Amino acid sequence: MTVRAPAKVNLELRVGPPRPDGYHELATVFHAVALYDEVHAVPADEITLTVEGSQAEAVPRDVTNLALRAALLVAERVGVEDGVHLHLRKGIPVAGGMAGGSADAAAALVACDALWHCGLSRDDLHELAAELGSDVPFSLLGGTAIGTGRGERLTPALARGEYHWVVALADHGLSTPAVYGELDRLRGAGDVPEPEISDALMQALRAGDAPALGAALANDLERAACSLDPGLRRTLAVGRQAGALGGIVSGSGPSVVFLTDGPEHALDVAVALTASGVASGVRRAIGPVAGARIVEPARS
Ligand code: ATP
Repeated sequence: MTVRAPAKVNLELRVGPPRPDGYHELATVFHAVALYDEVHAVPADEITLTVEGSQAEAVPRDVTNLALRAALLVAERVGVEDGVHLHLRKGIPVAGGMAGGSADAAAALVACDALWHCGLSRDDLHELAAELGSDVPFSLLGGTAIGTGRGERLTPALARGEYHWVVALADHGLSTPAVYGELDRLRGAGDVPEPEISDALMQALRAGDAPALGAALANDLERAACSLDPGLRRTLAVGRQAGALGGIVSGSGPSVVFLTDGPEHALDVAVALTASGVASGVRRAIGPVAGARIVEPARS
């Protein structure tokens, strides 16, 4: 069977002070966009993995791969002795700040649950997802949702409308821990307020008001990502000059996403980004979309 899981952008990402466990307390609004990874799962004697896609060589094949870890976790918790072969088709940029690894983990959870007839509930899957990584529960849920804690505590957000995004891809990744480390360095010893989502952003979502949402996009990690990768400032400037309603580094970067006011406007912004040469690739994607879902039933 094949399970498809979407990329995410953080419409707002507020980062609190580091916690004793090393994580940072977050307040974020996740939004799933129509860039997908697919996990094709077939019964096998052992748990194995192959990867396909233009960035496949950057994806680990060992147990650090989140999809493989997801399958091993389900097998261990449910006590399954069957195997599975997972074939990943990567459509989400690797180490791009769009939660590609988390999408694969969520897709692998859904695939193994179905293939092995585990009958896990939504809550069971969420619990396993949170063990695998902070963004994995959202990759299961999809839509638009507020995340707190490490990002794993989710509440669906009241959001209206469909949004048209343009994603500027980079030809390299940025390490998420390095970006958080740079933020701590830039903040120095100063007090960091508790993270909070702005009323302006929530109101824009409730109203389905794209210009207001564009103005409210915010990411505390942006200056750290730009400090490590100064070329991102130019990418942001090009999209804004092309008339985007707002532009933001996605999560820890280096993907940059721009909100536009419709499909034609998205095409204009995409053309401007491509012509400027600032991005290694440009994609258009609508949001919100559903989380990890089976797209092709198992053949019997
Ligand atoms: P984060 O979720 O930490 O913000 P990201 O979205 O920036 O990460 P990912 O594509 O999830 O980026 O990959 C981050 C790192 O995780 C990669 O550099 C890779 O070493 C590792 N990784 C583990 N499993 C996967 C996977 N299935 N696909 C891609 N990368 C993976």
